[in-house]
Amino acid sequence: RDVILEARDLTRHFTLGGGLFEPKTKVRAVDGVSLTVNRGETFAIVGESGCGKSTLARLMMRLDRPTSGQVLFNGQEVQDLARRDMAPLRRDMQFVFQDPFSSLNPRMTVGKLVGEPLEVHAPELDADTRREKVAALLAQVGLLPDHANRYPHEFSGGQRQRIGIARALASGPRLLIGDEPVSALDVSVQAQVVNLLNDLKQDLDLTLVIIAHDLAVIRHMSDRIAVMYLGQVVESGPADQVFDAPRHPYTHALLSAIPEPEPGRVHNQLTLKGEMPSPSNPPAGCRFHTRCPFAQDNCRTHTPLLDAADTDHQVACHHWKTIPEAGKPAPPRRRSVGA
Ligand code: SF4
Ligand code: MG
Repeated sequence: RDVILEARDLTRHFTLGGGLFEPKTKVRAVDGVSLTVNRGETFAIVGESGCGKSTLARLMMRLDRPTSGQVLFNGQEVQDLARRDMAPLRRDMQFVFQDPFSSLNPRMTVGKLVGEPLEVHAPELDADTRREKVAALLAQVGLLPDHANRYPHEFSGGQRQRIGIARALASGPRLLIGDEPVSALDVSVQAQVVNLLNDLKQDLDLTLVIIAHDLAVIRHMSDRIAVMYLGQVVESGPADQVFDAPRHPYTHALLSAIPEPEPGRVHNQLTLKGEMPSPSNPPAGCRFHTRCPFAQDNCRTHTPLLDAADTDHQVACHHWKTIPEAGKPAPPRRRSVGA
């Protein structure tokens, strides 16, 4: 197995407040996350807003520094990189952001936006060659050569995201990290951009890391999935296993919220009570226990570790062996427990 990106026991804690009338609070945005992304796969990180997935993405992109733990890209610790050694990392690892409009300078033409990374990463190219490269990049994302002379505001949301992707591809990256790359788009356009990312992954041998809150979006594009809750990974594994037989009640609940793609299949629904607690004051024991219908006494006091449910499928739950799986008929509930 060829690992391109790895997080090792990564934490990122923020201190908020500390003003005259407010106490300081420590927010555990990311709390002990370990994961590996294999070369050539699409790895999805999913969870509700506030679960720490964007912070995790920023740490992996080295746009932020961890409180502790490590990020390794191609086996190299990225925190240690000196400024002058950052260029190869920025060339090989690129980002696609949620809101293409705010990440594109409105005063730059599309040609300039897409050509700018070439000036940085391939300064030896002359202007004509650069123009040709820009035209090729635009074609690659389904835009026309003369779109290069227009400005971002002249395009629809989906086209702007294509511009953002062309810009990300300009340096010839090996890994693309997308933080909610389609969630700002109309549902009808989302599938087009997902298909584009899938095609580019095949054609360019890319590795994709996709951050999303919507499991429906990543269902048909991911090879492996990590599900996050309150700063921690609660389940990870091959996408088909996680989708067809989720082991963690939280994953089950997330899946219950999306429509069943196979008509007639009995979907064992699990609806959650309440909101996600604040990451500044996570519940003791299993962080999910305040919302878990299967919580038992030890869940309130003992933190479950990620445990192998199958070789490549891991779950952080004390009771996954006795909890009904999604997609299978639920056995009679022995107890119903809230917070
Ligand atoms: Fe629910 Fe307990 Fe499992 Fe946490 S450890 S998910 S509270 S059953
Ligand atoms: Mg986010």
